[in-house]
Amino acid sequence: MKVGIVSLGCSKNLIDSQTAMKYLVRAGHEFTNNPREADAIIVNTCAFINDAKQESIDAILQMADYKEDKCKKLIVMGCLAQRYKQELEEEIPEVDRFISIDEYKDLEEILSNELKPVKKQPCDIILATRPWSAYLRIADGCNNRCAFCAIPLIRGKYISESMENILEEARRLEAIGVKEVNIIAQDTTKYGLDRYGELMLGELLTELNKMNFLWIRVLYMYPDQLNDQLIDTMASLDKVVPYFDIPVQHGSDRLLKKMRRMGDTKRIKSLINTIRDRFPEATLRTTVIVGFPTETREDFNQLYDFVSEVKWDHLGAFKYSLEENTAAYDMHPRIADRISESRHRKIMSLQQKISQHNAERYLNSVQEVLIEEKDAFRNIYIGRSKHNAPDDIDGHIRFTSEKELETGTFVNVLIEEVNAYDWKGKAI
Ligand code: SF4
Repeated sequence: MKVGIVSLGCSKNLIDSQTAMKYLVRAGHEFTNNPREADAIIVNTCAFINDAKQESIDAILQMADYKEDKCKKLIVMGCLAQRYKQELEEEIPEVDRFISIDEYKDLEEILSNELKPVKKQPCDIILATRPWSAYLRIADGCNNRCAFCAIPLIRGKYISESMENILEEARRLEAIGVKEVNIIAQDTTKYGLDRYGELMLGELLTELNKMNFLWIRVLYMYPDQLNDQLIDTMASLDKVVPYFDIPVQHGSDRLLKKMRRMGDTKRIKSLINTIRDRFPEATLRTTVIVGFPTETREDFNQLYDFVSEVKWDHLGAFKYSLEENTAAYDMHPRIADRISESRHRKIMSLQQKISQHNAERYLNSVQEVLIEEKDAFRNIYIGRSKHNAPDDIDGHIRFTSEKELETGTFVNVLIEEVNAYDWKGKAI
């Protein structure tokens, strides 16, 4: 059977799509990018904020349009399916099967029952990413209770994967030639505490550093658990890139408390200073929320000043999204959309100047770049340095080369031009 997969949302969701793909290939199915020729379409949904929910619903409806052929199956999984299964069943009857997150352990069986295989194919691993870069999920769920976030309701308690299983998966990635491994979880810094009684991210990175990967990148680090010991370990490991993805959510201590975040801005600033002292080329990325209930002009000004002072290299701002059954749902006053919109614009415009300013320190530097694409029409290559994660948020490096180059390999690039998102240069 030919199967198409639409994967929405973050890299954690992409890993679930990858797992589904692995089971499908094992069961003898083939993939297609063309929904018309697919016998079954799987939509892996996201329910992070309202825009993501809408995007997921649009994708399901769009795929349902291809069901004019009644034999085609439509399967929906992911966070939206988990949270709104009943409503979706009523509203979108074209969906043949919703798969909840607690059914993922039986995914292989469910998919085999729902879809009829055409032939058996041997396949141990399949990547939803480019073959040289992979995500490695080390835990799922979350024990934090950030007031704005529905993820713990959807994904459940934080459960660390065993070190043994993670290293086995890493060895499989290594064997198929993956060069960059990106560590993900809802909160990577908490790895190990539930399973081993102590924080084990440092130990895990030490083991991964012995393998043949060239870049190891850690994403989604909760600031409170990112301690000196972990920073020291990261500094001692040559393959761990100096990239720190630390979602802080706000810059007003009053609002951080309302959001039920651990730690305060003093602790975050001191953490950033420590990182910058230890890693002169550190790339710092964060996310913030504007328009959280009760956010006053003073709170927003504090956020603005905090962002101006810390000068993150990359920052994503989200407008607060009202989520049922979260602590913030009943918090008042709510902030009018036009105010959130205007605050969002102000923060993003500030960040654009900061990103541009920070990028200028790399002008005329030589960066090791992982080549990801060739734009044959313009004769340029597109790649990423250790400063750009693979999730398309941080921008790319576009460069020319006199020699023909292969995607998936590394090349040194002289950076000749920078802007807030993309840098330009030439291979040397
Ligand atoms: S740390 Fe907070 S924002 Fe992140 S998944 Fe957990 S509850 Fe949500």
